[in-house]
Amino acid sequence: MSEPEIYCPLCTWRPVGSSRWLCSPRMGGCGTQWNTFWTGGICPGCSYRWEITVCLACKQFSLHEDWYHWPEGQAKGRERRLETEQP
Ligand SMILES: [Zn+2]
Ligand SMILES: [Zn+2]
Repeated sequence: MSEPEIYCPLCTWRPVGSSRWLCSPRMGGCGTQWNTFWTGGICPGCSYRWEITVCLACKQFSLHEDWYHWPEGQAKGRERRLETEQP
């Protein structure tokens, strides 16, 4: 299993399929609403990559990548495998 769990790093709220985020016009966005975890934080309207994601539960911003919680012992992103055999 290499699927990360996705939840708020501050309050552990988990987004669901019907959750929607706004590409905020107040922050220079285009107003599109979508589920940001389907696109890795990239707005489908203007292709802007949001590096921060607001929690719909606690209303706090966190880095988008901080929402991804990989299983213990697994490195973030690409797994580095060392092929060293020691006696
Ligand atoms: Zn939260
Ligand atoms: Zn946008």
